[in-house]
Amino acid sequence: MRHFIAGIAAAGLFACSSPPPEVSYPNGPMSTTPQTSRAAQGPFQPDYHLYACTPSFSNRPNTDSNGRILNYNALVTVNGVILAAAPVNDACMTSGFGPRFGSMHKGIDLQSKPAGPIYSAAPGRVLEVSEQTGFGYQVLIAHGNGVYTRYGHLAYFAEGLKPGQTIGFGQPIGLMGRTGNATAIHLHFEILTGNYNTPRKSWGLKANNPLDFPGWSGLDNVTRSLGIDHVLNFLDPNTLARTYRDPVAWVILAVDLFPIWAVLTMGWGAVPLVFLYWLENLIIGAVALAKMIATSMKDHPIGAIGMAFIGPFFIFHYGMFCFVHGVFVSVFAQMSVENGDPSGFPSPSNLVNQALLSGENMPTFILAIIALQIFLFFQDFIMRGEYRETTIEKEMSAPYGRIIVLHIGIFAGAFAMAALGNPMLGILGLILLRALWGVFLTVRRRIQLDKTLQTAN
Ligand SMILES: [Zn+2]
Repeated sequence: MRHFIAGIAAAGLFACSSPPPEVSYPNGPMSTTPQTSRAAQGPFQPDYHLYACTPSFSNRPNTDSNGRILNYNALVTVNGVILAAAPVNDACMTSGFGPRFGSMHKGIDLQSKPAGPIYSAAPGRVLEVSEQTGFGYQVLIAHGNGVYTRYGHLAYFAEGLKPGQTIGFGQPIGLMGRTGNATAIHLHFEILTGNYNTPRKSWGLKANNPLDFPGWSGLDNVTRSLGIDHVLNFLDPNTLARTYRDPVAWVILAVDLFPIWAVLTMGWGAVPLVFLYWLENLIIGAVALAKMIATSMKDHPIGAIGMAFIGPFFIFHYGMFCFVHGVFVSVFAQMSVENGDPSGFPSPSNLVNQALLSGENMPTFILAIIALQIFLFFQDFIMRGEYRETTIEKEMSAPYGRIIVLHIGIFAGAFAMAALGNPMLGILGLILLRALWGVFLTVRRRIQLDKTLQTAN
């Protein structure tokens, strides 16, 4: 024991001579839930280190010789939400996560002397501010993406704290205390995941050890600003597994992979395939227009007036974009077909006809794509309320990005064809790239669905 205290004292001295790096929570709308992004950040910044209070207590995590908890990260990421793993300053741990005295300790206990203020561990929405037998005065906050935090045994709540309010990171929520079933002044802190909207409320959520989550590094900031954090999210096997638990995800994949069958059994080459994707772009354009109209209805009449200008502009601009694209595809088709005659400049309807006739069963494929898009429009955009979260401008620009990605795919496919000297492989590669893009969109759909479920809390 004496050793231990000496160790902490030494660490304290060491800390004085060389202070630990400062931790600061990222500014701006870092939370993935839209409703929380506007809440102002509070004064709290977490401590870089967390110490064990004593050499032995239940579920004591591994520490270095100074009692410093080894796998503590001041900021952790939980389902994409950045959280403080210990939302209090100058505290040490008096009990860890895990089975304790015949029951489950679903959080960690943190103690500071004197009792210090407790802060919200991430931006979110306050769900519960209540007194309970076990936790005493307790607060529960939803952070989006099915992530929640609970704070128990508070002495009192911060003034004005009430359920339903949004709260920024690091805002005070109360003072550390010993209300409820507590033998000493401390904070009982839980990180919970799952769905709160069940009859069991927070009791149906999964409790997690705050020390189990990966630490957040400034690097995430970079990936976020580059927009590639989603890519990393997509590589998460859990997200993928969750995505493909939904039968709709499999239907989307099947429709995307369908052309493989046409290539293998109907003699489809590059021309019908590129025409298929071109026709698909027209369908996506029509869907974008439908989404813009639906979006404009929500802020009637201003939205409708705006739409009267933006709608025709989009039809003209996207139409021209697709037309020019189609002319290139048509030229490509004529170059590929031996008896192709470059008979003047095609009209839009000629292009569509040429596309529809370019491969066996083309209309069937197009009908399947239309049916799927109509289903997704009604199911996701209208019924699940995506239109409430979006803007006309966002929906208008969406199809262009898709075309650019498709072009990169065609380019890569053509390159592969040339490199391999095997047109079939190039075509199959193009279909696989297209399907991979489909997987990306499907996972994004899942992430968005998770978000709308979350917003409903
Ligand atoms: Zn506890």
